[in-house]
Amino acid sequence: MQPQVGVLALQGDFEAHARALARAGAKAREVRTKADLEAIDALIIPGGESTTMLKLLAAEDLLEPLRAFGQEKPIFGTCAGAILLASEVTHPRQDSLALMDLTIERNGYGRQIDSRIAHIDLQGRPAEAVFIRAPVIRRAGPQTNVLATYNGDPVLVEQGRHLAATFHPELTGDAEIHRYFLSKLESALD
Ligand code: GLN
Repeated sequence: MQPQVGVLALQGDFEAHARALARAGAKAREVRTKADLEAIDALIIPGGESTTMLKLLAAEDLLEPLRAFGQEKPIFGTCAGAILLASEVTHPRQDSLALMDLTIERNGYGRQIDSRIAHIDLQGRPAEAVFIRAPVIRRAGPQTNVLATYNGDPVLVEQGRHLAATFHPELTGDAEIHRYFLSKLESALD
């Protein structure tokens, strides 16, 4: 059976992730309940508003199941999703899943970069990235691997099976980063 990839669909731009997954050759399942979570092999947490997402997760009793899911299975968090994956969130401080050793500052680029397309350095080559009220990764712990930077700050980081992007790879062209996440899922299943 094909591995099942879920997209957390409580809030935010989950539909754009489903389209990016389709471009990468995978079908997305929308995840809203614990039963949905039990039926998937990997999860994408989309961008949106991390405080609202946390509240909705708590209201659905999904915080602990999601932490347990991440102990075993890959999660890709983008923007608000990256904030949820980080071990430490600042500006202001808030709870998180703490699945990656990252310190992340919400809205870290300030109001002047509300939304912009920027060129990031993706493994030594330039790539376009969309930033929307993006957080800044202030610290990436020793178990993490930085895959892309913008102005010297990490913007795409992996730690074991997990992947976090402070930008929105679902909004640009070719779904290269979604394909990379799918390749991590395949190696997690080996
Ligand atoms: N600024 C948002 C937050 O703190 C994240 C923005 C996004 O996901 N595009 O949750």
